[in-house]
Amino acid sequence: MLKIDVVRSVAALRAATRPHRHDGKRIGLVPTMGALHQGHLELVKAARRHAGFVVATIFVNPLQFNPAEDLDAYPRDEATDLNLLAATGADLVFAPNVAEMYPKHFSTEVKVGGLTKYLDGPARPGHFEGVATVVTKLFNQAQPDIACFGEKDFQQLQVIRRLTRDLDLPIEIVPVPTVRDEDGLAMSSRNRYLTEKERIAAALLPASLRAAVADLQAGAAAAPILEKTRAALKSAGFAPIDYVELCDAETLQPLPAAREGSRLFAAAHLGRTRLIDNWPVL
Ligand code: AMP
Repeated sequence: MLKIDVVRSVAALRAATRPHRHDGKRIGLVPTMGALHQGHLELVKAARRHAGFVVATIFVNPLQFNPAEDLDAYPRDEATDLNLLAATGADLVFAPNVAEMYPKHFSTEVKVGGLTKYLDGPARPGHFEGVATVVTKLFNQAQPDIACFGEKDFQQLQVIRRLTRDLDLPIEIVPVPTVRDEDGLAMSSRNRYLTEKERIAAALLPASLRAAVADLQAGAAAAPILEKTRAALKSAGFAPIDYVELCDAETLQPLPAAREGSRLFAAAHLGRTRLIDNWPVL
């Protein structure tokens, strides 16, 4: 059993990071909701490359789940997470409870406009406000120099880049490429919900998106390709399909055909699991 320091209050987090900042070390932050997998650990490794002291956070943020979603069922396994973080070279874990993050009468919300109009914005009402609020708090609590976020949640990464820029936060946002299983499925804590049969079908999501990327790169109009992809997902058992869209990677605005800086995005449900994925096109 490896050991890693765990703090649960903002005051203890500040006390634990202060000496390292005063030693001139850059502080790196890796926010997570726990139930860690190799994708999260690549974020920790990236933070290690950019910072002298790496803080990972574990907090299942109720604000980013809407009432129809899986807050109560969300997997939690702190003991395993702490071992993985220690083995991967994190220096400190911040694992607050809900009362520490959201004290009584908490009533402030961070809302990023524009790029949240698309994709998961309408599909998950309130989600990005929850994400933007908790990440702003984590940034103020840990005061990192750099923070790592995965491209698996590409819209979230763009929301965080935008809020960091708009609010003049002195933090470098480091993107980390999506880590996938051998059959291409993007790793996710929610993949634990999949039955054996669903897990096999799930690989059709990255496979059908890659096929669509190839067609889009050849210059074809997006609409029929997106429709064909939706049909392929539907016949593999995905339902409902929240979206399959070609978008500008910066603004996330839907595009009629591929152009420089376009990206393909999809979200679809398989049984009780919601899966998302995205791939660069041009
Ligand atoms: P979560 O615990 O799902 O909130 O994710 C915490 C961080 O890990 C976010 O920045 C995610 O984008 C990132 N992440 C989750 N899954 C992956 C993956 N398969 N590859 C890369 N980053 C990931």
